[in-house]
Amino acid sequence: MDFNDYIRDIQDFPQQGIVFKDITPLLQDKETLKKASEALFLLVGEHRIDKVVGMESRGFFFGPMLATKLNAGFVPVRKSGKLPAAKISQSYNLEYGTDILEIHEDSIQKGENVLIHDDVLATGGTAKAVCQLIERLGGNIIACNFLIELDFLSGRNNLNGYEVQSLLHY
Ligand code: IMP
Repeated sequence: MDFNDYIRDIQDFPQQGIVFKDITPLLQDKETLKKASEALFLLVGEHRIDKVVGMESRGFFFGPMLATKLNAGFVPVRKSGKLPAAKISQSYNLEYGTDILEIHEDSIQKGENVLIHDDVLATGGTAKAVCQLIERLGGNIIACNFLIELDFLSGRNNLNGYEVQSLLHY
């Protein structure tokens, strides 16, 4: 079984010129889903994790699965306006313009060990903004964990000083 066989390239999605890595075939297959979540868990190693933070929306697939394996809680980071309770916001740069991510201010306690998880590391702008949110709440970032890293976009350069763990590289 090769994980790569369960990830398909979709041309020109969501915009012309973008080749989108679609992980839904991997999610649909019961054996591959189980193996991928186990492999992501093994990447974390021996660290004690208090909270797994996953970003909207594809960080919500494996984030809670990782949290249960790590005996940790799960915290969602969402796009602007989606979280109901008191929150903090962080703006970050997109290719054209800026966007805003938010986290509930009571979701992480000072000194808690945090693992960040998302499906894809592209330019690293999203993950960097999430690191900033967590550090503003006093969280201690143990690592940034991804199913897929797009090496040609050098996103890990945006995450200097943090451990970056990726299951698959393209
Ligand atoms: P970045 O901020 O450029 O690193 O983009 C990462 C964010 O965009 C993540 O939340 C991903 O879910 C999403 N993303 C970027 N490229 C892809 C892709 O090819 N497939 C799925 N998601 C992607």
